[in-house]
Amino acid sequence: MARIVMKFGGTSVADLDRIRAVAGRVAREVEAGHEVAVVVSAMAGETNKLVKFCTDLSPLHDAREYDAVVATGEQVTTGLLAIALQQRGINARSWQGWQIPIRTDGGHGKARIDAIDSALLIERMRQGQIPVVAGFQGIGPDNRVTTLGRGGSDTSAVALAAAVKADRCDIYTDVDGVYTTDPRIVPRARKLATIAYEEMLEMASLGAKVLQTRSVELAMKARVRVQVLSSFEDRPGSDLPGTLLVDEDEIVEKPVVSGIAYSRDEAKITVRRVPDRPGIAASVFGVLAASNVNVDMIVQNVSEDGDTDITFTIPRLELRRVRQLLEDAQGRIGYGLLLTDPEVAKISVVGIGMTSHSGVAQTMFKALAERSINIQVISTSEIKISVLVAEDYTELAVRALHTAYGLDG
Ligand code: ASP
Ligand code: MG
Repeated sequence: MARIVMKFGGTSVADLDRIRAVAGRVAREVEAGHEVAVVVSAMAGETNKLVKFCTDLSPLHDAREYDAVVATGEQVTTGLLAIALQQRGINARSWQGWQIPIRTDGGHGKARIDAIDSALLIERMRQGQIPVVAGFQGIGPDNRVTTLGRGGSDTSAVALAAAVKADRCDIYTDVDGVYTTDPRIVPRARKLATIAYEEMLEMASLGAKVLQTRSVELAMKARVRVQVLSSFEDRPGSDLPGTLLVDEDEIVEKPVVSGIAYSRDEAKITVRRVPDRPGIAASVFGVLAASNVNVDMIVQNVSEDGDTDITFTIPRLELRRVRQLLEDAQGRIGYGLLLTDPEVAKISVVGIGMTSHSGVAQTMFKALAERSINIQVISTSEIKISVLVAEDYTELAVRALHTAYGLDG
């Protein structure tokens, strides 16, 4: 017997038929003798609708009222699923974040979970009752409803799994696991049976939008075994049909490269003819830091005649704002020219095996060179190499790298 937290995303509870199917899934685990708690998202599209209500009324709405509105999507699904479970003769009840309570900080709209009082839930689970918990929401220090940011119900599920000391947190979604890359680009992408937390973190933050990045951070910290699997495909008989997130040490044969990720969410900025003297990077990036802009890749060229160039990437959605910030600071920084390019893509190869292999970067550069794809910026970390290329080459680059690292299925 195990204790399992099952989480169902928006598409898995999109209508009443889907909710009945979810109840069937839960019933199977209950009948297998497991203790189960369920976390649900809002029905697909509901949260977007609720967000739009708020922004249509006022673009600068009160964040506390926004939370009061957008948290309701999850409340609906907890009740509906509890009813569907009861229909099957299963003892179930709904729990809102404030009822448990799931305590968060006061960051309305993007709150972080501080603590979950799990005693009552554990007691109910022991008695055979299934708690159906609203994801995405909690209660803040001001005693008001908070939400955790878009996609936050993954984080709710992992946090709940940690709090009730679950053996596993199964995240049911509309894909059946984590793939070596986006199967829409590379039809020969393979599903990974396991992936290390660290790798998943890189993949998640790079736009393999299977799990909210924060949920992976939390799983890694709290050592929660997370499994990603599809609620649409039913494969009775196979015990671990999805992808399991595990500790690096649990992976025996560490692949050099586990996956290829890409992101079209960044834009490139080049500041040209910056005087090459101490403090210049601090002054350029100080302007951005002061306005909470996240800078990702950075390169600075060697100087020529006392001038240098600095190229970096920022979130594409912030390009206009950042351009303005840098233009306003031109006099202070003392640069010659500002160039911006939103048509870039970041392509990354990720793998924990990289730390113990050489030549990994060279394979990447060679594969791209053979397709005449120009690399604009390079950055590396222990388990990742990223390059910036022209956006038009995204698919070609991803395919070439998938083949070059032997990932094709
Ligand atoms: N319903 C929320 C959203 O759409 C939370 C979630 O689905 O994870 O962002
Ligand atoms: Mg989600």
